[in-house]
Amino acid sequence: MRFVDEFRDGELVQKRLTDLRHLVTRPWTLMEICGGQTHAILQYGLDELLPPEIELVHGPGCPVCVTSLELIDKGLAIASQPGVIFCSFGDMLRVPGSHNDLFSIRAQGGQIRVVYSPLDAVKIAQENPDKQVVFFAIGFETTAPANAMSVLQAKGLGLKNYSVLVSQVCVPPAMHAILGSPENRVQGFLTAGHVCAVMGYWEYPPIAEKYRVPMAVTGFEPLDLVEGIFMTVQQLEAGKVDVLNAYSRAVTREGNTAAQAIINRVFEPVDRNWRGIGRIPLSGWGLRSEYSAFDADKRFGVSGIQTRESPLCIAGQVLQGLKKPSDCPVFGLQCTPRTPLGAPMVSSEGACAAYYRYGKK
Ligand code: SF4
Repeated sequence: MRFVDEFRDGELVQKRLTDLRHLVTRPWTLMEICGGQTHAILQYGLDELLPPEIELVHGPGCPVCVTSLELIDKGLAIASQPGVIFCSFGDMLRVPGSHNDLFSIRAQGGQIRVVYSPLDAVKIAQENPDKQVVFFAIGFETTAPANAMSVLQAKGLGLKNYSVLVSQVCVPPAMHAILGSPENRVQGFLTAGHVCAVMGYWEYPPIAEKYRVPMAVTGFEPLDLVEGIFMTVQQLEAGKVDVLNAYSRAVTREGNTAAQAIINRVFEPVDRNWRGIGRIPLSGWGLRSEYSAFDADKRFGVSGIQTRESPLCIAGQVLQGLKKPSDCPVFGLQCTPRTPLGAPMVSSEGACAAYYRYGKK
């Protein structure tokens, strides 16, 4: 397949790895932001092929993992109500809330539907006018255009039974939080290619400059990842700080301006709580007031949520690159994909799930 096969070419990857071995002279710690990149790195064994001087730590780019426990508990409370059809992407179903998960609510008779797009949830609302249909609108900048579009479509159709429980989060404020922390170890970033395909990468140079941390916009195939690492290390070795584009077949500096216009029409910046990390100012999007009729949080008015995290889970430190899943004392023991204690063990983009799946102990 064009634009995929050549980026999985083993010979080309080995050649670039050789270039990297000749380039590197001292230890560097890089963070890949996106959980999809973490999975690809482990799936192709790139972490073991890199020169030993380069350490990759894993970032917070797993939307399911960073959705706040309070919001998950709210979603579970709404999904338990009679007359509600609760729609979600599949990997949210096993994510543990304080007391249960969407699977257990479905087992108790709750109407939980797995959808592949929020527009499917709008269709379900059209087909079920006697039910309240709620879509769990989680994600980074990548999911925001479709989630915003579902609200516009529902409004255009005059639907009164569709709403969204919004947990949109944004990458740049999370980078500020990681780089501004006194515990930070990250010296270079691989930014998430699909987020940049939507938003461009014009937001990153001021961050790179402020913290003196070079970056490369990076894709998801083995050659993309090695190229992003090479571009970042090349800057580190030369003492340069810039944001380079190693994913130019999908990303431009400006990004998808039509998608950005839809996001800005429906959403506005808000503070968000990140699970395991805490509150980050203006780190997400919430519905603008003119779309508040579609806000599930307001429509259902769930209150009195008392959250309870597993005291054994160190996901917050894993999501900030301070620890690795294999540092967690219950990894693969009490915590497995069948018995998850934290979201990173069940999400398809979770670092703990990647370590478990690819046998990293
Ligand atoms: S292995 Fe499980 S308990 Fe440990 S950090 Fe990951 S999700 Fe949390």
